[in-house]
Amino acid sequence: MSNLATSLPIEKIIAVAHEPMILLSKEMKIIYANPPFYIKFNLSESDSKKYFFEIGDSIFDIPDLKKLLPEIVESKKSVANFELFYDSKDPLEKTLLFNIDAIDYQKETFLLLAINDSNEDLIRVRLKDTEAKVLEIENRFRTIADTAPVLIWLSGPDKLCYFFNKGWLDFTGRSMEEEMGDGWKQGVHPEDIKKCLTIYIPHFDVRKPFHMEYRLKNHNGEYRWISHKAVPRYTPENVFVGYIGVCMDIHDQKNFAEELEKQIHQRTSEVEQSQSFLKSVLNSTNYGIASYEAIYDKDGKIIDFLISYTNPEVPRNFGLEPHEVIGKTCKEVYPGIFENGIFERMARCMDTGISDNYEISALHEGNKMWLNATIEKVNNSVAVTSKNITQEKTAALEIEAMNTLLSNKNRELEQLLLTEFSESFYSYKNGQSFFNFLLLEIASKTKMDYVLLGEVFPNEAGEQVIKCFSVVAFGKVVENFEYSLKNGPCEQVIKGGSFSFPKDSRSIFPDSKTLNDFNVNGYMAHPLSDSSGNTIGLIAVLHQKEIQDVAYIESLLKIAAKRSEMEFERMQNEKLLEMKNAELEKQNVELASFAYISSHDLQEPLRKIQLFASRILDKEKANFSESSQAYFQSITNAANRMQNLIESLLNYSSMDASEIKLIPTDLNLAVDEIKNNMIEIIEKRNARIEVEKLPTLSVIPVQFQQLLSNLISNGIKYSKEDVAPVIKINAEIIPLEEFAGKQFWKINIADNGIGFQQEYEHKIFELFKRLHGKSDYEGTGIGLAICKKIAQKHGGFIRAVGTPDVGAVFSIYLPVK
Ligand code: ADP
Repeated sequence: MSNLATSLPIEKIIAVAHEPMILLSKEMKIIYANPPFYIKFNLSESDSKKYFFEIGDSIFDIPDLKKLLPEIVESKKSVANFELFYDSKDPLEKTLLFNIDAIDYQKETFLLLAINDSNEDLIRVRLKDTEAKVLEIENRFRTIADTAPVLIWLSGPDKLCYFFNKGWLDFTGRSMEEEMGDGWKQGVHPEDIKKCLTIYIPHFDVRKPFHMEYRLKNHNGEYRWISHKAVPRYTPENVFVGYIGVCMDIHDQKNFAEELEKQIHQRTSEVEQSQSFLKSVLNSTNYGIASYEAIYDKDGKIIDFLISYTNPEVPRNFGLEPHEVIGKTCKEVYPGIFENGIFERMARCMDTGISDNYEISALHEGNKMWLNATIEKVNNSVAVTSKNITQEKTAALEIEAMNTLLSNKNRELEQLLLTEFSESFYSYKNGQSFFNFLLLEIASKTKMDYVLLGEVFPNEAGEQVIKCFSVVAFGKVVENFEYSLKNGPCEQVIKGGSFSFPKDSRSIFPDSKTLNDFNVNGYMAHPLSDSSGNTIGLIAVLHQKEIQDVAYIESLLKIAAKRSEMEFERMQNEKLLEMKNAELEKQNVELASFAYISSHDLQEPLRKIQLFASRILDKEKANFSESSQAYFQSITNAANRMQNLIESLLNYSSMDASEIKLIPTDLNLAVDEIKNNMIEIIEKRNARIEVEKLPTLSVIPVQFQQLLSNLISNGIKYSKEDVAPVIKINAEIIPLEEFAGKQFWKINIADNGIGFQQEYEHKIFELFKRLHGKSDYEGTGIGLAICKKIAQKHGGFIRAVGTPDVGAVFSIYLPVK
């Protein structure tokens, strides 16, 4: 088949070869192709003249090959197992393996291409490739498996394990060699191994995925619960190659789940128990318990209720059994609820979810029956619990009626006692004689062995004791004594506990010295309170026998206590009044004697000092140094001040004695005169006095002039250093609430001075009280005391309102005649 005239020696070799072979010129023209080649590629004779790339519908016209062949010609380097994919009808033969070499012969270069006809080589090559890939994948798998936080194993088709990941080995603390094959079984808990194998083997045999849980020993020797899942593995060609298993430590979850299960179990049995308990309670209780489902109309309005549950008590009230009412509507069974408002209550509770409680009476077979019921919304129904309270209600009504009767009786009794008492007190008594009389009265009325009244005090040891104010024993006033409250019934009374132990009081208070000393059996008392409600003492009766007439004595003691409290208060006020009077007396005596001394004895020497000081100054002025002159001036000033003080005091003390002769006085003129008198100081202080129209009032002219003058001069005196004083005077008529709306003239003298804190309002009107030091403002502290007295002498009073740094308003109030 050679188309060369002289065949090449190689052609002979090629001709006998089994494999398809072809020899090409370096121009890629076919020199020779052996018969297997023609057969393989189904070529004809005509193809032998063509270029290699053209033959057989250009099956070799493949870019890789076209590029490769000239390179081999050039480089002379052979290529083995060159894989060539070509378009073949037979899918198995799509790939060809080429061995290609360049052959130099007689200065010519030829290319020899031997084609591997059988697929075996190809498969081998492929297999090698695949193995490498498998190895790579497996290595990759191992690294992934080793880093995975789970336990992984692989087994072959022979059920024997050949791989355990790092997670597994770390968990068990064993080596791969120890675990290999079925070495892993040694770690499984002896109680679990059988169960494991009965799952593992049958699933393995039918290639099914399986799941099991068992205990596996960890590196600390501790068995931990493992969840184990395994699936069969197949190659892409569907060849079974073993199992892969993934395990997880579920010990903690398992324990938790077990605990949970236990709890659920317990709860369930509890619920079951309470359910049966509830059932028995529901059936046996005398509370009516029922559940009603709302029935709505098409507009969503509740029109009726379906009885979905009831215990026997509810229908029993109507002579029915539960089975006769359950499943029926209220309209059918309890039509009364649509008339007595209960249906509305149930519907409201259903709509709003707000529970309701009510008491209701119903007539059943002619008898009045009382029910107390609660309605509560529970999911889609309302539960109504009701109690038949007919008995309690009747009893309560009876008690109420009894109480009214009793309290009426008590009131009558008290009234009676009060009248009796009032009669006894017809002759007015007070203090000690009052109490003695009172206790004698009680003793004679009650026939009690002892009656006592006392105040509670802490003694020197700090212990609470009763100091008796009056004691009557066996109908006679006896000497007062003192006794401890400790361990006795009086302690209870003072604390506000029980007041009445009509018998066996000694066995109730076995440690009470008083009860034992007086051999007391019955004891009753009532506490005494002061006006603020504090307990201050008690009035008590003690009897050597049991006290019979408890209610009577109780009422008597109550009235006696009230009356005693009043007497105590009166005594206290009396004491207070006495004290105040004594104080006043003392002050008056002191003042009178002072006034006498000052008017006679003090003024005289003072005038002499003033007289002689001014004479010396007149005569000897020229001989005096400047400082001596200043000293002399100080003497004169001090003497003047003293005279001023004495005169003020005399004025103050003589005020009470002075005659009250009221003369209508135009206050505008009075203020004008004051302004004239004070012209010097007004100009000096740059003061402004603004006077609104003032009324003409009946006053003691000199005194009222002094009153206004004091207030105006204070307004100028207590001015701010850098602000010119402005004094505003006006008068108005106002009604005063505290005098039942009576009308008063209110004359205001307001300044813009230093003011004062309101809390000192009353202080500044006291004698000698000054808020500001002598070094800041000169004064005696008598001026406002005089003002107060003058206002009072005119049947009025004076008030002041101050605001620090803003000013003060002094208001004189005089009743409008
Ligand atoms: P004094 O001789 O000290 O002025 P008064 O009896 O007149 O005595 O006043 C008593 C005190 O009231 C004064 O010392 C002063 O502190 C306070 N006081 C009186 N008038 C005023 C006023 N207009 N503004 C502020 N404080 C005043």
